Amino acid sequence: MRTKKQYIEGLRKKNHNIYFNGKTIDRDDEMMMPSIDVMGITFDLVSDPKYKDLLTVKSHLTGETINRFNHICHSTDDLHKKQDMTRALCQLVWGCIQRCMGLDASNTIYNVSYEADKQNKGSTEYHKNFKKWLERFQREDLVGCCAQTDVKGDRMKRPSQQIDPDLYVHVVERKSDGIVVRGCKVHNSLASIADEILVVPTRSLLPEEKDWAVAFAVPADWEGVKQVVTFHNIRERDVFKKGFAQGSSDSYTIFDNCFIPWERVFLCGETSHGGVAALLFALFHRHSYSGCKPALGELLLGTVALAAEYNGIAKASHVRDRLAEIIRTAELGYAAGYTGSALGKPEVYMPGTGLVTYGPGSYIPNSIYCNVGRCLTGEAVYREYEILCEISGGIPATFPHEADFTNPVTADLLKKYTMRNPSININDAIKLWMHIGDVLCSSTGGITMMANYHGGGSPIMESIAITSQYDIDARKNMVKKIAGIEG
Ligand SMILES: Cc1cc2nc3c(=O)[nH]c(=O)nc-3n(C[C@H](O)[C@H](O)[C@H](O)COP(=O)(O)OP(=O)(O)OC[C@H]3O[C@@H](n4cnc5c(N)ncnc54)[C@H](O)[C@@H]3O)c2cc1C
Repeated sequence: MRTKKQYIEGLRKKNHNIYFNGKTIDRDDEMMMPSIDVMGITFDLVSDPKYKDLLTVKSHLTGETINRFNHICHSTDDLHKKQDMTRALCQLVWGCIQRCMGLDASNTIYNVSYEADKQNKGSTEYHKNFKKWLERFQREDLVGCCAQTDVKGDRMKRPSQQIDPDLYVHVVERKSDGIVVRGCKVHNSLASIADEILVVPTRSLLPEEKDWAVAFAVPADWEGVKQVVTFHNIRERDVFKKGFAQGSSDSYTIFDNCFIPWERVFLCGETSHGGVAALLFALFHRHSYSGCKPALGELLLGTVALAAEYNGIAKASHVRDRLAEIIRTAELGYAAGYTGSALGKPEVYMPGTGLVTYGPGSYIPNSIYCNVGRCLTGEAVYREYEILCEISGGIPATFPHEADFTNPVTADLLKKYTMRNPSININDAIKLWMHIGDVLCSSTGGITMMANYHGGGSPIMESIAITSQYDIDARKNMVKKIAGIEG
């Protein structure tokens, strides 16, 4: 397994295809470093006795010890550990640990490539090629990201109905040695600091939409790939430093007539499995949310509790109610994911058919529980931030800049007027209000809220998944029986 240093060295060697604010930038640009520091945790902690068991696992392909972020889940225990690893690491970085995207996409493609080959009765070798790709991904301890979300153009039209077919990534040419693809995937978290980009379809597809049923993996600096990146970093501090300064980045990943050799193509034209790939990535990713959202809930809970203490209102009854509300959501989200893990099977929901055995035997979490958990915690995001806003009062919004707390003219005056609870060290109070400013009032805070609401699929998408997969007729029949309704 690699160290964080070796991971950064790998990033430095990549071709220049990252565009930011009108220029190309290096992958170790200072804007990238906060995201790299988050990712670095996934390398740093593999030998830490506290995290080793969660973060490492034996590869089912080689038997070697690998990073769990590159592992294919083969048991309910693997699913539980995936959830717990995500929760444990997100607690350390204030939110998204970023590397789950590659984990969820590789688990998706592992299953879908197998089923597509089965449908093609041996005329394709997607699964064999994917396993070859996976072996290297695991051995070299690479970082993967997932490019699923297409730009999608007119939301009321299907891929084949758009005025521009490129609004969903699709195959424009099939050659003897590979395919050429064009289109743009958006909101791709960590793509700029990833080694590999895994691409899967974004939605279900009609039989005539073969060109859009495509899944593949390319190095993040591959010829024909351009990444236009945005950064979400917090304001740097010199004196009142944070213990961990989190950051993230997202890319528009543009495939500009990009050639993909066949050995990196894992689905090409099998529309029904393209639809399953879309559902399956969403499902694996919603399962990851059952780890990260409880962690974020815990972090918000701790922040609200500290804000109440520093404001001297910790014993007020409404504070207890608000803390209970956050705990309820976080732990119900975790419980839903836990059940999703415990009920995991090599099984997916096939629209129109129902639950079917799927893939080569690896484990897929239960869809209903992953979706209800993600929906519950996703819808609660803004409410949780509202609670933090309520309990903090207005101070994080207008808090002076750091240098005003060190300027001899204003420092003592500002400290005197920042004091609320005399038992709290004033420098600690300054750090807390600055931290809450980062959480509630910064551009990073705003993006984190949106990420937690929409990432992995907006709550409306989970509602659609739940209601289409839940047997509502069976429940109608229960009630008919009790009400004495016949027919
Ligand atoms: C910070 C962040 C990070 C993310 N990271 C990743 C990532 O790493 N990889 C990745 O692939 N994706 C990523 N996502 C994308 C995420 O999954 C999507 O944002 C989410 O699925 C919603 O899609 P959208 O943004 O295109 O919203 P839209 O589709 O534009 O939705 C806008 C509104 O239109 C409604 N709507 C859309 N279509 C229809 C329709 N046909 N009928 C009726 N109403 C409709 C929606 O319900 C919603 O209310 C990320 C998103 C964010 C915000």
